[in-house]
Amino acid sequence: MANDRPIYFDNAATTAMDPRVVEAMAPWQGELYANPSSQHGPGRRARAAVNRAREQVAALIGARPQEIVFTGSGTEADNLALAGVIDANRGEPSHLVTSAIEHPAVLETARALQRRGAALTIVPVDSVGRVDPDDVRRALRPDTRLVSIMAANNVIGTLQPVNEIAEVARAAGALFHTDAVQAAGATRIDVAASAIDLLSLSAHKLHGPKGVGALYVRHGVALAPLIHGGGQERGLRSATENVAGIVGLGRAAELAADHLNSDIAGLTELRDRLIAGIRDACPNAYLIGDPVQRLAGHVCLGFSSQEGEAIRLLLALDEAGVAVSTGSACSASHTAEPSYVLQALGFDAFRARGALRLTLSRNNTLEEVERVIAILPGLVSSLRRIATSRR
Ligand code: PLP
Repeated sequence: MANDRPIYFDNAATTAMDPRVVEAMAPWQGELYANPSSQHGPGRRARAAVNRAREQVAALIGARPQEIVFTGSGTEADNLALAGVIDANRGEPSHLVTSAIEHPAVLETARALQRRGAALTIVPVDSVGRVDPDDVRRALRPDTRLVSIMAANNVIGTLQPVNEIAEVARAAGALFHTDAVQAAGATRIDVAASAIDLLSLSAHKLHGPKGVGALYVRHGVALAPLIHGGGQERGLRSATENVAGIVGLGRAAELAADHLNSDIAGLTELRDRLIAGIRDACPNAYLIGDPVQRLAGHVCLGFSSQEGEAIRLLLALDEAGVAVSTGSACSASHTAEPSYVLQALGFDAFRARGALRLTLSRNNTLEEVERVIAILPGLVSSLRRIATSRR
């Protein structure tokens, strides 16, 4: 196995850059280095490239180009959405609603805002990780400024009823933000047809470069900037633009839009084959997250009575040339810690250490899926034998 090409099943952590993205970025990392704020020809050309990328990102989510703000990451887009809304209402009582399974980019920002005086309600999820819109409705107060619920969860792949929750927020006069870092390019999103006011995305999750993201800000939504300076990005994100990164995000968004239908169909097929193949071969395997409302390429599995072994399974798979993840790469330094996402689903601390995440992209093949189905059961049972002999 080790001689074969490694299999990369960790696309929720990050994706390979599409060669067409690399190609689009290349001149902007070389000879086309002008500052888009410069008035000369090369500067105007850089400005035009940034604006073209704005159109490409807007088209992916049904927004208008002027509603896209480029940021330095998905994390920064989430920070800007939450702190931007709360800070725009400075001096008035501000309440924020979010869910228990948000990415730390949202949860930790919400907690930081709470330390600065905002009120915070964290709504629960059910056993497959879905937020009930009625729980959001019940959490709303007259001073609720913002509801932030992710479109798709990075650990378990569950999709949220964001359009419905956005309507609930709007009816109560609150703004609605969604962290669509995992969902953008992987599900259909149309902000114009929904009540979503703010949406975060990140280039490296959709075959673009790392270190660049975007926040959709619906026309008319008041936001305070996080970063102050020269006034770029309509004053919402000062700093000389990362032109190459932005061009890469734009091209990646364009390709994601072009591939969307075939990606969703192809990945759903691969995902379902992977789940069925592993379950047939490992009777103790169970799917975590919503079996239907889940990201097309996302598989999250537990192995009953072996939940403490997920990290060993990851290492054994790694040895066999298969890259996967336990829980979330963003908390990789805490892999021995129980996942707060799984605990929110009702898992106890032992079982909450036990998830194996296999996430696919359009670069993966059926042959790779079959190879993993062939390898995994043997690894699971040899680890079980070791675990049993230790008892
Ligand atoms: N939100 C979600 C749901 C994510 O999965 C991630 C990254 O894993 C982020 C936000 C952060 O994005 P970035 O890595 O661009 O900062």
